[in-house]
Amino acid sequence: MATPPPIAELRLYDTRRRRVERFEPLVPGQAGVYSCGPTVYAPQHIGNLWSQLFADLVRRALTAAGLDVTHVVNITDVGHLTDDSDDGEDKMELAASRTGTDAGEIAARYTAQWERDRALVGCLPPSVMPRAADHIDDQIAMIQRLEAAGVTYRTDDGLYFDVARFPRYTELAGLDLDHLETTGRVVATTAKRHAADFALWKLSPPGKRRQQEWPSPWGIGFPGWHIECSAMATRYLGAPIDVHTGGVDHIGVHHTNEIAQSEVALAVHPWVRWWMHNEFLDLGGEKMAKSTGNLLVLDDLVAKGYEPMAFRAFFLQSHYRQQRDFSFTALDAAATGHRRLLAHALAARDAGGRSDEARTAALRQRFWAAVADDLNLPRAMAVAWDAARSPELSRADRWSLLADFDAVLGFGLAELPSPEAGGGDGTGDGADPRVDALVAEREAARSARNFAEADRIRDELAAEGIEITDTPAGPRWRRSRP
Ligand code: AMP
Ligand code: ZN
Repeated sequence: MATPPPIAELRLYDTRRRRVERFEPLVPGQAGVYSCGPTVYAPQHIGNLWSQLFADLVRRALTAAGLDVTHVVNITDVGHLTDDSDDGEDKMELAASRTGTDAGEIAARYTAQWERDRALVGCLPPSVMPRAADHIDDQIAMIQRLEAAGVTYRTDDGLYFDVARFPRYTELAGLDLDHLETTGRVVATTAKRHAADFALWKLSPPGKRRQQEWPSPWGIGFPGWHIECSAMATRYLGAPIDVHTGGVDHIGVHHTNEIAQSEVALAVHPWVRWWMHNEFLDLGGEKMAKSTGNLLVLDDLVAKGYEPMAFRAFFLQSHYRQQRDFSFTALDAAATGHRRLLAHALAARDAGGRSDEARTAALRQRFWAAVADDLNLPRAMAVAWDAARSPELSRADRWSLLADFDAVLGFGLAELPSPEAGGGDGTGDGADPRVDALVAEREAARSARNFAEADRIRDELAAEGIEITDTPAGPRWRRSRP
């Protein structure tokens, strides 16, 4: 008989219904997830990566609930304007003209950086990674359906969606349309009937050739930003879809507009069953954003000596619906914890042996219950720590639990290389994962300024004839006597 999936009942928060609900897929055994990906005009910062870690967590949890997940993550390489009122410049074109390069080249460069960074922090590759500029026909076809449905109007500079013709427009974000303009969310322009109306197709400015422009029934131009996600989600997942993710900044404009387009063009409601949004990672108490330059990229962390996976560990410390401020002190703590957890896991993994289900069942149940409870990873991580350290468990028990939990933690524990012989000091004393774990614990105690504990571990090892030397590359150990 096949083993049942670790999560029997997954409960997830839906932004639209504003409550946690038991997840039921549209098609039994399957789930389609669409995640808003990066606009590739500049390096992706760790806030963008945060939203990918969240999307990856959703995907892993759905998989742990026994579903076959198709995860679509788009690349925005055209049409995202510098402001949400359809008046600013196209971010890609602007970056191209500022640097004297080609928009396609810029998109390729930052897409590659984003894919690399995503992989370094343990995000699984998307099932499909469509680019907006490769799906112009799909977007035009969808806009034509909207035009046929009578919810659009033309202006001098393009074709717009008339939000007054879509009564559910305010549903997702709880917007007050009459007072939108005073909130600064959108700005009125003379061309639009209502401040919240949004561009479906923008015409190239008269007399100007854009790098990215296409013929269309409305003239030469480019698609508005929002239509790409509706069109590509439909192309790869059909409609309606199970889950759509993105950052909370998208609730009021981008996702609200995606719903309007998709529900009219596809005649579905609700187009998305679960709208899931991650809260923001801030920097220095301010929003982290490419547009203001208040940001850090993964390479900044690596340059300071952090493992990329430490950032994943940092992400898993808080709930995705909790806003978080980035600090190196907090990252330090996460990095230390991560190193220690790895040392415990490797010591357990390399010891071999058989685990005892009677001893592991309770922790296993607690871990997956935390994940199933709207992705409560802080609680799940606490259980993982119990599994790593509980004196009642054998090493085989620990490995059985941690290997299982790693399906959602995503640290890649099974593939990690074993610690080098003799703690990497080249003496060839022979590997001893238990000693490695103790040395890592001593390091953690030192970082936490718990010197009494650090000294206790050093003495314990010294009693076994093991000497620790602190080097700039970290601690090394060797046996001074057999
Ligand atoms: P963008 O490249 O600006 O379109 O953003 C890509 C994704 O990252 C979107 O889902 C955003 O909501 C998300 N995002 C942007 N900044 C942050 C941040 N500081 N914290 C978390 N998510 C973010
Ligand atoms: Zn999107």
